[in-house]
This record gives sequence, structure tokens and C-alpha cells, in this order.
Amino acid sequence: MLNKLRQKGPVPGFKRTPQRLAILDHLQGNTSHPSAEEIYRVVVKKNPSMSFATVYNTLHVLVKSGALRELTIDPDRKRYDPNTSDHHHMMCTDCGKVVDVFAHIPVALPEADAKDFSVTGSHIQFYGECIHCRKKQRG
Ligand code: ZN
Ligand code: MN
Repeated sequence: MLNKLRQKGPVPGFKRTPQRLAILDHLQGNTSHPSAEEIYRVVVKKNPSMSFATVYNTLHVLVKSGALRELTIDPDRKRYDPNTSDHHHMMCTDCGKVVDVFAHIPVALPEADAKDFSVTGSHIQFYGECIHCRKKQRG
């Protein structure tokens, strides 16, 4: 999906500016689940004319178009994932690192709890401590 936006040819509602392409390039294949601030900090180095507003607006457009997934796992800031396939996430509560969980985890919602909804998906957020932070604590 991101690829389609990067390649030539018109995509309705998506104007390819050099700034936007720089953001797409940075997101393509990125598995670090960066925040808007983190994306800005990296892309502004190569593109000094980049503003935070451009990053923020581009992320918004990408999320709306379905090319980018917005994660709410981090209570401090939204995180972004170019991998829009169905998967879960796990976050280190010490350093904020977010990793993918691709395991298929069957979740069965009892009918009584589903009420008048027909369930179309679920996303599990795991929290813990990464090995790096655990080692640091032990000294
Ligand atoms: Zn950690
Ligand atoms: Mn992910």
C-alpha cells in the first residue's frame, strides 16, 4: 500500500511532494513503530525544509487512506506501523520499544458480551520488559 503511494501514477487524494516521499521512504519496511516526533527527527536531517506539521499531516492522510496503521499501545504518543496486516503488539514499559506479535491468538468473545455487534477483528497489546531493560536493572 505504501509502495503504491511511492510509485508513479496518480493516487486520488495523494499529492506526491518531495517531503511526503521522504516520509514514505522512511516508513517503508520500518518495523520500529515510530512516533510522529521520531519520524520528524530522522527525515528533517536529510530534508531541512521539513516541518513537523508536514509529518503530522502526511501521517494523518496515510492513516485515513488505510496505508498506515495507527497504534495506541503507547499511552504517551501515537505510534505508526506501515505493516497493515493483522498482527498484535508488545511494548516495553521501560524503554517504549514496540515489537510485532505475529502469532495467531484465538480470541472468542462470548455471545452475551458481543451484544448486537458482529466482531470483525481484535488487537492484543502486551506489556512487559524487554531483555535489554531487564539486564540493565540487574546491573
Ligand atoms: Zn526496554
Ligand atoms: Mn506492527
